[in-house]
Amino acid sequence: MASVRILEGIGVGTRAVRAEVLRWSARKPLPAMAKSSLGPEVEVNTLSKAIANLENQYAAKIKAATDKDLREILEAQSAFASDPELADMAKDFCVQGWDAPSGLQLAMGEFKSLLEGAGGEFGERVADLDEIVYRLIQWMSGESEETILPTIGSFIIVADDLTPMDTIAFTDVVVGVVTKGGGPTSHTAIVCRSRGIPAIVACTGADELVNGQMVVVDPDASQAIINGELADIDVDWWAARTNQGGPLIQVMANVGSVADAAQVKSANGVGLLRTELFFLNNKVAPTRAEQQALYADVLAAGPDGEIIVRTLDAGSDKPIAFLGIGHEENPALGVRGQRVAAIAPKFYEDQLHAIKAAADSVKATGKKIEVSVMAPMIATVEEAQVFARDARAAGFTHVGIMIEIPAITRVIGQLKGVVDFMSIGTNDLSQYLFAADRVNSGVAALLNPWQPALLSILESIATDSAAAGIKVGVCGEAASDPLLAVVMAGLGINSVSASASSVAAVSELLSRVDNKAAKSAAKAARGATSARDAKSAAKQALLDG
Ligand code: PEP
Ligand code: MG
Repeated sequence: MASVRILEGIGVGTRAVRAEVLRWSARKPLPAMAKSSLGPEVEVNTLSKAIANLENQYAAKIKAATDKDLREILEAQSAFASDPELADMAKDFCVQGWDAPSGLQLAMGEFKSLLEGAGGEFGERVADLDEIVYRLIQWMSGESEETILPTIGSFIIVADDLTPMDTIAFTDVVVGVVTKGGGPTSHTAIVCRSRGIPAIVACTGADELVNGQMVVVDPDASQAIINGELADIDVDWWAARTNQGGPLIQVMANVGSVADAAQVKSANGVGLLRTELFFLNNKVAPTRAEQQALYADVLAAGPDGEIIVRTLDAGSDKPIAFLGIGHEENPALGVRGQRVAAIAPKFYEDQLHAIKAAADSVKATGKKIEVSVMAPMIATVEEAQVFARDARAAGFTHVGIMIEIPAITRVIGQLKGVVDFMSIGTNDLSQYLFAADRVNSGVAALLNPWQPALLSILESIATDSAAAGIKVGVCGEAASDPLLAVVMAGLGINSVSASASSVAAVSELLSRVDNKAAKSAAKAARGATSARDAKSAAKQALLDG
């Protein structure tokens, strides 16, 4: 019998699969910088043709993308590729004597630092820009852009990392994914979660996987098992539990666009409406009326019930050009989230009033929504007081804050009477708790939401919130893991808000547990000393109980 080897990573999804490894071809390095031997006119012409070709490619891929998350990523990349500023910069370098691939690489370097100037490091957007350069240069060197997949069979795609353009080529033969890079919130994780493809990301041992080898991808255990057998894994382990007729705690949805809102129409409210996503490509600030129209569209398209709109969370990995944040050495620790209100007071005031006006106008149509606002990145009680005062002055009666910075978790008792609710952003809370950049795949293991220290802080936030009489939910990506959502319920969290594609799975498992089972899963997870053990202990507790 072939020997079994276990590779550890971070699991995405809930279903285990077994299939043959198919390695995604590694990318060629970009060509070295070179001066043109053909003259600027030829180089500029090559560049224009390459951009036009890439625009056409994107248009075709966007049309073919049935998956909403993937389509949105491709649309954002396509907007970058069509940016005239980028083309003009690259052409200027060609006029200075560089060949087209070099002009493009130099321009992209400048473009990145310009964006950094607008708001710091920008995480997945760096990957978007690298992808555009790669595709343009690939076309210039006459190479094909497609990886050809077999038409029959089932395969686990193994790669260093995948770009959204890569994943669009996936057909039904792709049943699983293993990547060496990526993290819990990387593009690969988002697209796989959204398409229902089980994946192991940040799998440092992925290099060991070779074509033709049989491998099991078990996202629940966060493992890729070389020569593993599915029979050893209980794939439908929760199916035997009785459905209680509804989830143990409220399951809401995270929304970032009108399409998201429409997709989750049947969810029990929206726990996080990310407003900054509307403005990532704006060069000038929207007017109050323009904002109101945008928010009204999304509120009208989404579910009834409680809708929590988050005020602008710009800066760091979400740069917004018109705010004028300026260059920062450590943007994740700089002016971002609620801190931006001080440098863009007009936008801040306009936004609060625009959300209120949009909520009133949609309610006036008869839609049964209750809209509240919450502020991102609150570090102190004083910041919470200022935001609550401003939000109430704009007419809101239900005002909350996000818990994403460890400092605020120490003073929750002092928020009594200041805010009406809190929502934990586990993506940023992990980043700041573990001193691990959320967009750096090299530290992804620390960002595993099952880390015991994160579970411990969730428990203490839940305990302190209950003592202060303030409701607390979780809206970070961690709440999209059904088993972790059960643990959260057991730790005393009052609601979860999951990504649009995970709402159904999270509701399903939360409907198959009662308070006692959730508490025992939480207790088991809290007793573990590693992320891996916490997850398996929680599962075991549910299997035993
Ligand atoms: C979070 O930090 O967990 C969160 C929900 O906010 P965002 O991911 O938008 O920063
Ligand atoms: Mg956050």
